[in-house]
Amino acid sequence: MTAPALRSYDLYIAGEDTPSSSDQVIDSIDPTSGQAWYQVPAANAQDVDRAVKAARNALESRAWSGLSPTQRGKVLRCVADALADHAADLALLETRDNGKLIRDTTMLYGNVPVIWEYFAGWADKVSGEVVPTIDTTLTYVRREPIGVVAAIVPWNAPVTIASNKIAAALAMGNTVVLKPSEITSAGVIEMARIATEAGLPAGVLNVVTGYGGDCGDALVSHPGVDLVHFTGGTTAGTKISQRAAERHVRVLMELGGKSPNIVFADADTQKAATGIISGIFAAAGQACTAGSRAYLHRDVYEEVLAKVVERAQRIKLGDPMDPETEVGPVAYEQHLDRILSYIELGQQEGAKVALGGGRASEGALSKGFYLEPTIFEGASPDMRIVREEIFGPVLSVVPFDDEDEVLQMANDTPFGLVAGVWTNDITRAHRMAQRLDAGTVWINTYRALSPIAPFGGFKASGHGKEGGHEGVLEMTRLKTVWINLSEGASADPFIIQK
Ligand code: NDP
Repeated sequence: MTAPALRSYDLYIAGEDTPSSSDQVIDSIDPTSGQAWYQVPAANAQDVDRAVKAARNALESRAWSGLSPTQRGKVLRCVADALADHAADLALLETRDNGKLIRDTTMLYGNVPVIWEYFAGWADKVSGEVVPTIDTTLTYVRREPIGVVAAIVPWNAPVTIASNKIAAALAMGNTVVLKPSEITSAGVIEMARIATEAGLPAGVLNVVTGYGGDCGDALVSHPGVDLVHFTGGTTAGTKISQRAAERHVRVLMELGGKSPNIVFADADTQKAATGIISGIFAAAGQACTAGSRAYLHRDVYEEVLAKVVERAQRIKLGDPMDPETEVGPVAYEQHLDRILSYIELGQQEGAKVALGGGRASEGALSKGFYLEPTIFEGASPDMRIVREEIFGPVLSVVPFDDEDEVLQMANDTPFGLVAGVWTNDITRAHRMAQRLDAGTVWINTYRALSPIAPFGGFKASGHGKEGGHEGVLEMTRLKTVWINLSEGASADPFIIQK
Protein backbone atom coordinates (compact mmCIF):
# COMPACT_ATOMS: atom_id res chain seq x y z
CA MET A 1 0.00 0.00 0.00
CA THR A 2 1.40 3.42 -0.89
CA ALA A 3 1.34 6.16 1.74
CA PRO A 4 -1.23 8.91 1.09
CA ALA A 5 0.23 12.00 -0.61
CA LEU A 6 1.20 14.74 1.79
CA ARG A 7 -0.77 17.95 1.80
CA SER A 8 1.18 20.52 -0.09
CA TYR A 9 0.98 24.30 0.49
CA ASP A 10 1.84 27.03 -2.00
CA LEU A 11 3.21 30.47 -1.26
CA TYR A 12 0.61 33.12 -0.52
CA ILE A 13 1.15 36.12 -2.80
CA ALA A 14 -1.22 38.89 -3.89
CA GLY A 15 -4.19 37.23 -2.19
CA GLU A 16 -3.70 33.87 -3.91
CA ASP A 17 -2.11 30.49 -3.35
CA THR A 18 0.85 30.86 -5.67
CA PRO A 19 3.11 28.00 -6.80
CA SER A 20 6.80 28.57 -6.20
CA SER A 21 9.22 28.81 -9.11
CA SER A 22 11.53 26.53 -7.12
CA ASP A 23 11.00 22.78 -7.33
CA GLN A 24 12.53 22.27 -3.88
CA VAL A 25 10.09 21.42 -1.10
CA ILE A 26 10.44 21.19 2.67
CA ASP A 27 8.75 18.46 4.71
CA SER A 28 7.15 19.57 7.93
CA ILE A 29 7.65 16.92 10.59
CA ASP A 30 5.13 15.97 13.28
CA PRO A 31 7.28 16.03 16.44
CA THR A 32 5.23 13.31 18.18
CA SER A 33 5.96 10.76 15.46
CA GLY A 34 8.94 12.07 13.53
CA GLN A 35 6.83 11.67 10.34
CA ALA A 36 6.37 14.26 7.59
CA TRP A 37 2.79 15.52 7.44
CA TYR A 38 2.80 18.39 4.90
CA GLN A 39 5.14 20.17 2.54
CA VAL A 40 5.89 23.78 1.72
CA PRO A 41 7.97 25.26 -1.08
CA ALA A 42 11.58 26.25 -0.37
CA ALA A 43 11.05 29.65 -1.95
CA ASN A 44 13.90 31.24 -3.88
CA ALA A 45 14.90 34.84 -4.61
CA GLN A 46 12.52 34.98 -7.58
CA ASP A 47 9.57 34.04 -5.35
CA VAL A 48 10.62 36.60 -2.77
CA ASP A 49 10.81 39.23 -5.50
CA ARG A 50 7.24 38.44 -6.55
CA ALA A 51 6.00 38.70 -2.96
CA VAL A 52 7.78 42.00 -2.30
CA LYS A 53 6.47 43.40 -5.60
CA ALA A 54 2.94 42.38 -4.60
CA ALA A 55 3.34 44.15 -1.26
CA ARG A 56 4.86 47.20 -3.00
CA ASN A 57 1.99 47.35 -5.53
CA ALA A 58 -0.54 47.13 -2.72
CA LEU A 59 1.29 49.94 -0.94
CA GLU A 60 1.59 52.19 -3.98
CA SER A 61 -1.94 51.58 -5.22
CA ARG A 62 -3.04 52.96 -1.84
CA ALA A 63 -5.61 50.14 -1.70
CA TRP A 64 -4.75 49.89 1.96
CA SER A 65 -2.99 53.05 3.15
CA GLY A 66 -5.54 55.10 1.19
CA LEU A 67 -8.45 53.76 3.24
CA SER A 68 -9.46 56.01 6.08
CA PRO A 69 -7.78 54.90 9.30
CA THR A 70 -11.21 54.08 10.73
CA GLN A 71 -11.96 51.82 7.75
CA ARG A 72 -8.60 50.11 8.17
CA GLY A 73 -9.47 49.47 11.81
CA LYS A 74 -12.80 47.99 10.74
CA VAL A 75 -11.14 45.55 8.32
CA LEU A 76 -8.68 44.49 11.02
CA ARG A 77 -11.60 43.84 13.38
CA CYS A 78 -13.19 41.63 10.69
CA VAL A 79 -9.89 39.73 10.48
CA ALA A 80 -9.99 39.34 14.28
CA ASP A 81 -13.51 37.88 14.08
CA ALA A 82 -12.57 35.50 11.28
CA LEU A 83 -9.51 34.31 13.21
CA ALA A 84 -11.75 33.71 16.24
CA ASP A 85 -14.00 31.54 14.03
CA HIS A 86 -10.99 29.46 12.96
CA ALA A 87 -9.24 29.40 16.35
CA ALA A 88 -9.88 25.73 17.11
CA ASP A 89 -8.52 24.54 13.73
CA LEU A 90 -5.49 26.79 13.94
CA ALA A 91 -4.75 25.55 17.46
CA LEU A 92 -4.83 21.93 16.28
CA LEU A 93 -2.59 22.78 13.37
CA GLU A 94 0.06 24.43 15.53
CA THR A 95 0.01 21.61 18.08
CA ARG A 96 0.72 19.16 15.31
CA ASP A 97 3.37 21.45 13.83
CA ASN A 98 5.56 22.32 16.81
CA GLY A 99 4.28 20.00 19.56
CA LYS A 100 2.93 22.78 21.77
CA LEU A 101 0.18 21.47 24.05
CA ILE A 102 -3.35 21.66 22.72
CA ARG A 103 -4.42 23.36 25.93
CA ASP A 104 -1.73 26.02 25.36
CA THR A 105 -2.51 26.55 21.68
CA THR A 106 -6.23 26.71 22.48
CA MET A 107 -5.46 29.53 24.90
CA LEU A 108 -3.04 31.21 22.46
CA TYR A 109 -5.50 31.16 19.57
CA GLY A 110 -8.20 32.49 21.86
CA ASN A 111 -5.86 35.43 22.31
CA VAL A 112 -4.85 35.96 18.66
CA PRO A 113 -8.11 37.87 17.83
CA VAL A 114 -7.45 40.04 20.90
CA ILE A 115 -4.11 41.05 19.39
CA TRP A 116 -5.77 42.03 16.08
CA GLU A 117 -8.54 43.94 17.87
CA TYR A 118 -6.05 45.80 20.02
CA PHE A 119 -4.07 47.05 17.02
CA ALA A 120 -7.27 47.72 15.06
CA GLY A 121 -8.11 50.19 17.82
CA TRP A 122 -4.91 52.14 17.17
CA ALA A 123 -5.60 52.57 13.43
CA ASP A 124 -7.36 55.94 13.91
CA LYS A 125 -5.71 57.05 17.15
CA VAL A 126 -2.15 57.77 16.13
CA SER A 127 -1.49 61.33 15.10
CA GLY A 128 1.40 63.64 14.38
CA GLU A 129 1.94 66.94 16.14
CA VAL A 130 2.45 70.62 15.52
CA VAL A 131 5.82 71.82 16.80
CA PRO A 132 6.50 75.43 17.89
CA THR A 133 9.25 76.68 15.57
CA ILE A 134 8.71 80.33 14.54
CA ASP A 135 5.61 82.44 14.31
CA THR A 136 5.63 82.79 10.53
CA THR A 137 5.75 79.08 9.99
CA LEU A 138 3.43 76.19 10.59
CA THR A 139 5.64 73.21 11.34
CA TYR A 140 4.11 69.84 11.82
CA VAL A 141 5.22 66.25 12.04
CA ARG A 142 3.35 63.55 10.14
CA ARG A 143 3.34 59.91 11.15
CA GLU A 144 3.39 57.90 7.93
CA PRO A 145 3.50 54.19 7.11
CA ILE A 146 7.09 53.03 6.63
CA GLY A 147 6.26 50.96 3.53
CA VAL A 148 6.83 47.26 2.97
CA VAL A 149 7.59 45.41 6.21
CA ALA A 150 9.47 42.09 6.14
CA ALA A 151 8.31 40.11 9.16
CA ILE A 152 10.43 37.06 10.02
CA VAL A 153 9.23 34.77 12.79
CA PRO A 154 10.41 31.62 14.62
CA TRP A 155 8.64 28.30 15.15
CA ASN A 156 7.74 28.44 18.83
CA ALA A 157 4.56 30.57 18.52
CA PRO A 158 4.38 31.49 14.83
CA VAL A 159 0.88 32.93 14.51
CA THR A 160 0.96 34.81 17.82
CA ILE A 161 4.35 36.37 17.12
CA ALA A 162 3.39 37.14 13.52
CA SER A 163 0.08 38.71 14.61
CA ASN A 164 1.84 41.15 16.94
CA LYS A 165 3.98 42.32 14.04
CA ILE A 166 1.45 42.21 11.21
CA ALA A 167 -1.56 43.74 12.95
CA ALA A 168 0.54 46.68 14.20
CA ALA A 169 2.11 47.20 10.77
CA LEU A 170 -1.23 47.01 8.95
CA ALA A 171 -2.98 49.32 11.41
CA MET A 172 -0.48 52.02 10.42
CA GLY A 173 -1.02 51.44 6.67
CA ASN A 174 2.05 49.34 5.85
CA THR A 175 2.01 46.18 3.76
CA VAL A 176 3.79 42.97 4.77
CA VAL A 177 5.78 40.02 3.49
CA LEU A 178 5.99 37.34 6.16
CA LYS A 179 8.52 34.55 6.37
CA PRO A 180 7.83 31.84 8.96
CA SER A 181 10.36 29.29 10.14
CA GLU A 182 10.44 26.32 7.75
CA ILE A 183 9.50 24.16 10.77
CA THR A 184 6.04 25.79 11.12
CA SER A 185 4.74 27.38 7.93
CA ALA A 186 1.15 26.18 7.66
CA GLY A 187 -0.45 28.31 10.41
CA VAL A 188 0.65 31.64 9.00
CA ILE A 189 -0.38 30.66 5.46
CA GLU A 190 -3.84 29.80 6.80
CA MET A 191 -3.91 33.09 8.71
CA ALA A 192 -3.06 35.12 5.58
CA ARG A 193 -5.81 33.34 3.64
CA ILE A 194 -8.34 33.95 6.42
CA ALA A 195 -7.33 37.62 6.57
CA THR A 196 -7.85 38.07 2.82
CA GLU A 197 -11.24 36.36 2.97
CA ALA A 198 -12.16 38.71 5.82
CA GLY A 199 -11.50 41.77 3.66
CA LEU A 200 -7.78 42.54 3.62
CA PRO A 201 -6.99 43.72 0.07
CA ALA A 202 -4.86 41.39 -2.06
CA GLY A 203 -1.12 41.93 -1.69
CA VAL A 204 -1.35 43.60 1.71
CA LEU A 205 -0.21 40.41 3.46
CA ASN A 206 1.99 37.89 1.64
CA VAL A 207 3.74 34.75 2.88
CA VAL A 208 6.93 33.18 1.53
CA THR A 209 8.15 29.89 2.98
CA GLY A 210 11.67 28.53 2.98
CA TYR A 211 15.02 28.43 4.66
CA GLY A 212 16.36 31.41 6.56
CA GLY A 213 19.68 31.48 4.73
CA ASP A 214 18.01 31.51 1.27
CA CYS A 215 14.46 32.83 1.29
CA GLY A 216 14.96 34.84 4.51
CA ASP A 217 18.20 36.38 3.28
CA ALA A 218 16.65 37.25 -0.11
CA LEU A 219 13.82 39.01 1.72
CA VAL A 220 16.08 41.03 4.01
CA SER A 221 18.28 42.02 1.03
CA HIS A 222 15.41 42.97 -1.26
CA PRO A 223 15.51 46.66 -2.24
CA GLY A 224 11.71 46.84 -1.99
CA VAL A 225 11.71 46.17 1.77
CA ASP A 226 11.64 49.21 4.07
CA LEU A 227 11.69 47.64 7.55
CA VAL A 228 12.78 44.25 8.86
CA HIS A 229 10.88 43.13 11.92
CA PHE A 230 12.55 39.99 13.23
CA THR A 231 11.94 37.55 16.06
CA GLY A 232 14.41 34.72 16.49
CA GLY A 233 17.81 33.85 17.82
CA THR A 234 20.60 36.34 18.43
CA THR A 235 22.90 34.73 15.84
CA ALA A 236 20.38 35.08 12.99
CA GLY A 237 19.43 38.54 14.31
CA THR A 238 23.04 39.70 14.02
CA LYS A 239 23.33 38.43 10.43
CA ILE A 240 20.07 40.08 9.46
CA SER A 241 21.06 43.39 11.08
CA GLN A 242 24.35 43.35 9.15
CA ARG A 243 22.56 42.61 5.90
CA ALA A 244 19.98 45.33 6.49
CA ALA A 245 22.72 47.83 7.38
CA GLU A 246 24.12 47.45 3.84
CA ARG A 247 20.96 49.23 2.65
CA HIS A 248 20.41 51.35 5.77
CA VAL A 249 17.10 49.68 6.35
CA ARG A 250 15.53 49.96 9.77
CA VAL A 251 15.39 46.77 11.87
CA LEU A 252 13.47 45.76 14.98
CA MET A 253 14.95 42.80 16.80
CA GLU A 254 13.18 40.51 19.28
CA LEU A 255 15.93 38.04 20.16
CA GLY A 256 16.87 35.36 22.64
CA GLY A 257 17.19 35.36 26.40
CA LYS A 258 18.74 33.68 29.41
CA SER A 259 16.42 35.02 32.01
CA PRO A 260 16.86 35.02 35.79
CA ASN A 261 14.07 34.00 38.16
CA ILE A 262 15.07 35.23 41.65
CA VAL A 263 13.57 33.99 44.93
CA PHE A 264 14.21 35.99 48.12
CA ALA A 265 13.89 34.46 51.59
CA ASP A 266 10.75 36.52 52.31
CA ALA A 267 8.87 35.18 49.27
CA ASP A 268 5.91 32.83 49.27
CA THR A 269 8.03 29.79 48.48
CA GLN A 270 5.16 27.73 47.04
CA LYS A 271 4.20 30.47 44.58
CA ALA A 272 7.85 30.99 43.70
CA ALA A 273 8.38 27.27 43.05
CA THR A 274 5.33 27.22 40.79
CA GLY A 275 6.63 30.32 38.98
CA ILE A 276 9.98 28.64 38.41
CA ILE A 277 8.31 25.48 37.08
CA SER A 278 6.08 27.40 34.69
CA GLY A 279 8.95 29.70 33.68
CA ILE A 280 11.18 26.87 32.46
CA PHE A 281 9.08 23.78 31.80
CA ALA A 282 5.98 25.25 30.14
CA ALA A 283 6.26 24.85 26.36
CA ALA A 284 9.19 22.49 27.12
CA GLY A 285 11.30 25.58 27.77
CA GLN A 286 11.00 26.68 24.15
CA ALA A 287 10.15 30.26 24.98
CA CYS A 288 12.30 33.35 24.59
CA THR A 289 11.11 34.27 28.09
CA ALA A 290 12.19 30.95 29.65
CA GLY A 291 13.37 31.51 33.23
CA SER A 292 16.38 29.28 32.75
CA ARG A 293 18.48 30.61 35.65
CA ALA A 294 16.90 30.26 39.10
CA TYR A 295 18.63 32.18 41.89
CA LEU A 296 17.46 31.00 45.32
CA HIS A 297 18.35 32.76 48.57
CA ARG A 298 20.44 30.41 50.67
CA ASP A 299 17.89 30.47 53.53
CA VAL A 300 15.21 28.95 51.29
CA TYR A 301 17.47 27.20 48.78
CA GLU A 302 16.79 23.63 49.93
CA GLU A 303 13.08 24.24 50.48
CA VAL A 304 12.41 25.84 47.08
CA LEU A 305 14.63 23.41 45.19
CA ALA A 306 12.84 20.47 46.83
CA LYS A 307 9.46 21.90 45.81
CA VAL A 308 10.60 22.51 42.23
CA VAL A 309 12.12 19.02 41.91
CA GLU A 310 9.08 17.36 43.47
CA ARG A 311 6.66 19.03 41.03
CA ALA A 312 8.93 18.65 38.02
CA GLN A 313 9.19 14.91 38.75
CA ARG A 314 5.42 14.65 38.45
CA ILE A 315 5.19 16.52 35.13
CA LYS A 316 3.14 14.45 32.74
CA LEU A 317 5.07 14.18 29.48
CA GLY A 318 3.16 13.02 26.48
CA ASP A 319 1.04 13.58 23.43
CA PRO A 320 0.40 17.33 23.09
CA MET A 321 -3.10 16.56 21.77
CA ASP A 322 -4.03 14.99 25.12
CA PRO A 323 -5.52 17.69 27.37
CA GLU A 324 -3.98 15.92 30.42
CA THR A 325 -0.42 16.32 29.10
CA GLU A 326 1.67 18.95 30.87
CA VAL A 327 4.80 18.99 28.70
CA GLY A 328 5.02 17.85 25.08
CA PRO A 329 7.94 17.10 22.78
CA VAL A 330 10.46 19.65 21.57
CA ALA A 331 9.79 20.83 18.05
CA TYR A 332 12.34 18.97 15.92
CA GLU A 333 15.07 16.40 16.11
CA GLN A 334 18.15 18.60 15.64
CA HIS A 335 16.83 20.82 18.40
CA LEU A 336 16.47 17.78 20.69
CA ASP A 337 20.08 16.82 19.94
CA ARG A 338 21.26 20.37 20.61
CA ILE A 339 19.55 20.43 24.02
CA LEU A 340 20.99 17.01 24.90
CA SER A 341 24.46 18.26 24.01
CA TYR A 342 24.00 21.17 26.45
CA ILE A 343 22.97 18.70 29.17
CA GLU A 344 26.15 16.73 28.52
CA LEU A 345 28.18 19.93 28.53
CA GLY A 346 26.71 20.98 31.91
CA GLN A 347 27.92 17.71 33.43
CA GLN A 348 31.37 18.14 31.89
CA GLU A 349 31.47 21.67 33.29
CA GLY A 350 30.89 20.24 36.78
CA ALA A 351 27.20 20.95 37.42
CA LYS A 352 25.19 18.19 39.09
CA VAL A 353 22.00 16.83 37.56
CA ALA A 354 19.33 17.07 40.26
CA LEU A 355 16.58 15.81 37.94
CA GLY A 356 16.21 14.39 34.45
CA GLY A 357 19.15 14.72 32.13
CA GLY A 358 18.10 12.57 29.20
CA ARG A 359 15.71 11.80 26.39
CA ALA A 360 12.35 10.47 27.55
CA SER A 361 11.72 7.28 25.64
CA GLU A 362 9.22 5.15 27.52
CA GLY A 363 6.44 3.60 25.44
CA ALA A 364 4.90 5.97 22.92
CA LEU A 365 7.41 8.68 23.86
CA SER A 366 10.13 6.74 22.05
CA LYS A 367 8.79 7.84 18.66
CA GLY A 368 8.83 11.55 19.44
CA PHE A 369 11.29 14.24 20.45
CA TYR A 370 10.69 14.12 24.21
CA LEU A 371 13.08 15.33 26.90
CA GLU A 372 13.00 14.82 30.64
CA PRO A 373 12.60 18.09 32.56
CA THR A 374 16.17 18.70 33.67
CA ILE A 375 17.52 20.59 36.69
CA PHE A 376 21.18 21.40 37.30
CA GLU A 377 22.47 22.20 40.77
CA GLY A 378 25.84 23.67 41.61
CA ALA A 379 26.07 25.60 38.37
CA SER A 380 28.46 28.55 38.49
CA PRO A 381 28.05 31.86 36.64
CA ASP A 382 30.85 31.17 34.16
CA MET A 383 29.43 27.86 32.89
CA ARG A 384 28.05 27.84 29.35
CA ILE A 385 24.80 26.24 30.57
CA VAL A 386 24.29 29.40 32.67
CA ARG A 387 25.38 31.86 29.97
CA GLU A 388 23.91 30.49 26.73
CA GLU A 389 20.32 30.13 25.61
CA ILE A 390 19.40 26.43 25.52
CA PHE A 391 15.76 26.92 24.52
CA GLY A 392 14.65 23.70 26.18
CA PRO A 393 13.47 22.32 29.56
CA VAL A 394 16.80 22.82 31.31
CA LEU A 395 17.08 24.83 34.53
CA SER A 396 20.24 25.88 36.37
CA VAL A 397 19.83 26.63 40.06
CA VAL A 398 22.29 28.89 41.88
CA PRO A 399 22.24 30.00 45.56
CA PHE A 400 22.83 33.62 46.68
CA ASP A 401 23.29 35.48 49.97
CA ASP A 402 22.25 39.09 49.35
CA GLU A 403 20.57 41.48 46.97
CA ASP A 404 23.72 43.03 45.50
CA GLU A 405 25.22 39.64 44.81
CA VAL A 406 22.12 38.34 43.02
CA LEU A 407 21.77 41.53 41.00
CA GLN A 408 25.34 41.22 39.86
CA MET A 409 24.81 37.57 38.83
CA ALA A 410 21.43 38.22 37.22
CA ASN A 411 22.78 41.10 35.12
CA ASP A 412 26.02 39.32 34.23
CA THR A 413 24.72 38.03 30.90
CA PRO A 414 24.83 39.16 27.31
CA PHE A 415 21.00 39.02 27.31
CA GLY A 416 18.37 41.33 28.81
CA LEU A 417 14.93 40.08 27.84
CA VAL A 418 12.91 39.42 31.03
CA ALA A 419 13.46 38.75 34.74
CA GLY A 420 11.32 37.35 37.56
CA VAL A 421 11.50 38.38 41.23
CA TRP A 422 9.72 36.66 44.14
CA THR A 423 9.52 38.75 47.31
CA ASN A 424 6.98 40.11 49.75
CA ASP A 425 9.08 43.19 50.48
CA ILE A 426 7.58 46.01 48.43
CA THR A 427 10.59 48.28 48.52
CA ARG A 428 12.88 45.46 47.47
CA ALA A 429 10.48 44.63 44.62
CA HIS A 430 10.70 48.17 43.21
CA ARG A 431 14.45 48.33 43.79
CA MET A 432 14.94 45.11 41.85
CA ALA A 433 12.64 46.28 39.06
CA GLN A 434 14.76 49.42 38.78
CA ARG A 435 18.13 47.68 38.81
CA LEU A 436 17.52 44.57 36.73
CA ASP A 437 18.83 44.94 33.19
CA ALA A 438 15.82 43.47 31.37
CA GLY A 439 13.08 44.83 29.12
CA THR A 440 10.36 43.23 31.28
CA VAL A 441 10.46 42.54 35.03
CA TRP A 442 7.82 40.33 36.63
CA ILE A 443 7.27 40.57 40.40
CA ASN A 444 5.56 37.56 42.02
CA THR A 445 4.44 36.36 38.60
CA TYR A 446 6.09 35.00 35.45
CA ARG A 447 5.18 34.80 31.72
CA ALA A 448 2.52 37.54 31.92
CA LEU A 449 2.19 39.02 28.42
CA SER A 450 -0.32 41.23 26.64
CA PRO A 451 -0.41 43.14 23.34
CA ILE A 452 -1.29 46.18 25.46
CA ALA A 453 2.10 46.16 27.21
CA PRO A 454 5.29 46.94 25.25
CA PHE A 455 7.66 43.97 25.04
CA GLY A 456 11.27 43.85 23.90
CA GLY A 457 14.71 43.21 25.25
CA PHE A 458 17.92 45.02 26.06
CA LYS A 459 21.49 44.13 25.04
CA ALA A 460 21.74 40.94 22.93
CA SER A 461 18.01 40.34 23.42
CA GLY A 462 17.30 43.00 20.83
CA HIS A 463 15.94 46.46 20.39
CA GLY A 464 12.65 48.08 19.55
CA LYS A 465 9.32 47.34 21.19
CA GLU A 466 6.44 45.15 20.12
CA GLY A 467 2.99 45.83 21.56
CA GLY A 468 1.54 48.84 23.31
CA HIS A 469 1.58 52.39 21.98
CA GLU A 470 5.35 52.17 21.47
CA GLY A 471 4.95 49.08 19.30
CA VAL A 472 2.51 50.93 17.07
CA LEU A 473 4.74 53.98 16.74
CA GLU A 474 7.60 51.69 15.64
CA MET A 475 5.51 51.01 12.52
CA THR A 476 5.56 54.65 11.44
CA ARG A 477 8.13 57.06 10.07
CA LEU A 478 8.20 60.75 10.92
CA LYS A 479 8.10 63.47 8.33
CA THR A 480 8.48 67.13 9.24
CA VAL A 481 6.59 69.68 7.13
CA TRP A 482 7.36 73.42 7.19
CA ILE A 483 4.79 75.85 5.76
CA ASN A 484 5.71 79.46 5.32
CA LEU A 485 2.78 81.58 6.53
CA SER A 486 4.30 85.02 5.87
CA GLU A 487 2.68 87.22 3.26
CA GLY A 488 5.67 89.40 2.34
CA ALA A 489 8.34 88.63 -0.23
CA SER A 490 10.92 86.01 0.69
CA ALA A 491 14.17 87.33 2.05
CA ASP A 492 17.01 87.41 -0.51
CA PRO A 493 19.57 84.88 0.85
CA PHE A 494 22.50 86.94 -0.42
CA ILE A 495 21.58 90.18 1.29
CA ILE A 496 22.61 90.41 4.91
CA GLN A 497 19.54 91.39 6.94
CA LYS A 498 20.21 94.40 9.19
P1 NDP B 1 16.19 31.42 14.31
O1 NDP B 1 16.92 32.68 14.64
O2 NDP B 1 16.97 30.26 13.87
O3 NDP B 1 15.11 31.70 13.18
C1 NDP B 1 14.12 32.67 13.27
C2 NDP B 1 13.60 32.99 11.89
O4 NDP B 1 14.62 33.62 11.14
C3 NDP B 1 13.22 31.75 11.09
O5 NDP B 1 12.13 32.07 10.26
C4 NDP B 1 14.47 31.49 10.29
O6 NDP B 1 14.22 30.73 9.15
C5 NDP B 1 14.87 32.91 9.94
N1 NDP B 1 16.28 33.10 9.60
C6 NDP B 1 17.35 32.42 10.06
N2 NDP B 1 18.49 32.91 9.51
C7 NDP B 1 18.13 33.93 8.69
C8 NDP B 1 18.85 34.82 7.82
N3 NDP B 1 20.18 34.80 7.70
N4 NDP B 1 18.14 35.74 7.12
C9 NDP B 1 16.80 35.81 7.24
N5 NDP B 1 16.07 34.97 8.00
C10 NDP B 1 16.73 34.04 8.73
O7 NDP B 1 15.29 31.09 15.59
P2 NDP B 1 14.36 29.86 15.85
O8 NDP B 1 13.33 29.75 14.77
O9 NDP B 1 15.19 28.66 16.16
O10 NDP B 1 13.59 30.35 17.18
C11 NDP B 1 14.15 30.29 18.42
C12 NDP B 1 14.77 31.64 18.80
O11 NDP B 1 13.79 32.67 18.74
C13 NDP B 1 15.27 31.64 20.25
O12 NDP B 1 16.54 32.23 20.29
C14 NDP B 1 14.24 32.50 20.97
O13 NDP B 1 14.73 33.12 22.12
C15 NDP B 1 13.86 33.48 19.91
N6 NDP B 1 12.56 34.08 20.22
C16 NDP B 1 12.53 35.38 20.64
C17 NDP B 1 11.33 35.97 21.04
C18 NDP B 1 11.27 37.40 21.49
O14 NDP B 1 10.17 37.98 21.47
N7 NDP B 1 12.35 38.01 21.91
C19 NDP B 1 10.08 35.21 21.01
C20 NDP B 1 10.23 33.86 20.52
C21 NDP B 1 11.44 33.33 20.16
P3 NDP B 1 14.49 29.14 9.19
O15 NDP B 1 13.87 28.59 10.43
O16 NDP B 1 13.81 28.67 7.98
O17 NDP B 1 15.98 28.98 9.19
